Amino acid sequence: MIRRIKLPGWIVIILLLAGIIFGINQVVAKVLAESPEPNEPNEKIVDSSVYPGLNIKTKTKETDLYTLSVSQPYTDNEQINKSINEWVDKQKKEFTSSIKESKNMLEENDFRAHLNIQAETEKIADKIYTLEFEAYQITGGANGMTKMKSFVIDLNQNKLLQLDDVFQLNEESIKNIQKLIMKELHSNQKISFYIFDDLAKEALKDPDKWKWSVGRDKVTFYFDEYEISAGAAGAIKAKIPMEKIKPYLNEKFAKKIDVKIPEKENSKEEEQHSEDKVKLDPDGKYVALTFDDGPHPDVTLRILETLKKHDAKATFFMLGSQVEYYPSLANKVEEAGHEIGNHTTNHQDLSILGLNKIKGEVQKSSRIIEKATGQKPTLLRPPYGAWNDSVKQVAKQMGVPMVMWSVDSLDWKSRNAAAVNEKVMSNVAPGSIVLLHDIHPSTADALPQLLTSLEKQGYQMVTVSQLLELWDGKGAGPFYGKIG
Ligand code: ZN
Repeated sequence: MIRRIKLPGWIVIILLLAGIIFGINQVVAKVLAESPEPNEPNEKIVDSSVYPGLNIKTKTKETDLYTLSVSQPYTDNEQINKSINEWVDKQKKEFTSSIKESKNMLEENDFRAHLNIQAETEKIADKIYTLEFEAYQITGGANGMTKMKSFVIDLNQNKLLQLDDVFQLNEESIKNIQKLIMKELHSNQKISFYIFDDLAKEALKDPDKWKWSVGRDKVTFYFDEYEISAGAAGAIKAKIPMEKIKPYLNEKFAKKIDVKIPEKENSKEEEQHSEDKVKLDPDGKYVALTFDDGPHPDVTLRILETLKKHDAKATFFMLGSQVEYYPSLANKVEEAGHEIGNHTTNHQDLSILGLNKIKGEVQKSSRIIEKATGQKPTLLRPPYGAWNDSVKQVAKQMGVPMVMWSVDSLDWKSRNAAAVNEKVMSNVAPGSIVLLHDIHPSTADALPQLLTSLEKQGYQMVTVSQLLELWDGKGAGPFYGKIG
């Protein structure tokens, strides 16, 4: 029997199964919104990060005109944070002002713009890190625009390293560095053809204007799209191997980065922690709580504790960018018997990306999660609940069903425990999938009462996969939500 519950007015979605897997194929997605970006007060620095002294935070925002996601590493040094913030804020401002200009066009074409800011983190010596930021924006048309910026942070001295901290700045070595860069630009066959030498020389003339970063085995120089080349080359990175550029580095700095860095310990035993294969009662009252955008060093741990007290299971849709920083947290979630789903790497709006980028966003995150937990995530929740045929195709190829939600707690909006409880309890029904975020302290505050209320009404908290299995057994359709 196909059970379909029609929901007047509000409601939502549920499940999009990317096919086959559970034999269900369609879904309706109507999404309200995800986290906005206001600063949550008193984020403390905790040491579960794999980069001591560095933490990361992902903020997302959604409006009718655009979606935005910023993954931003931060330190406990305000000066350093401020420099990074300034650059991030500038990108956001430029983006929103260009949206204002193209508002009509966006509305006419029914296109939602997107800004994604993400950072690659590299440890180059003890407490010395390079953050390579990439801001990618699409405000219409087929091509997005990418801007790059790097920060080299020395937490031993609590400062951002400047040009003269890293390079020797005498005439001779500057000349040699310039030569190395030009040579590198021409050794890359893919871009060499597009380079305008005179523009490149011009861009390199003044060392103060170099855009650069240091890695453990290379120094990278950046050029914006169109800066030194035809657009087809995109933004350009010239990577000079360390052994070539080392003679021109500041000696003190060169010594520092010679420090032997112990390899990350990665002694993950191949333990199987699959959730208990409990047979659910077809007439039971079940609900699947889902927590998105984590793991978060403080909030996720609090949520785990509460779930444990209530013997409740949940599903965590994690971001690769967060798991990369906090693999041990992801592992804790897995070991506690909860389910971990894939929420992509950088929280981009997948519905406006090309097929390859979508694949990249999903696969990279899957690899990061598998490395941290030993388990490949088997479910995908696209950021903002935004998907199209390409997203569906990728999900199908990878064999991961897409999972939406039927009850939105609006925790990102209210940031208030009582409001979260009210919202969930007034909308929950057997089979509900509830959307929460394990990045807001108020959500962790709400959970004890929420679990108590649900238990009082006879609900049992299970993972999404458990719920899906039950539906599959019942032959239920994909539309499922609030009753009555
Ligand atoms: Zn999200």
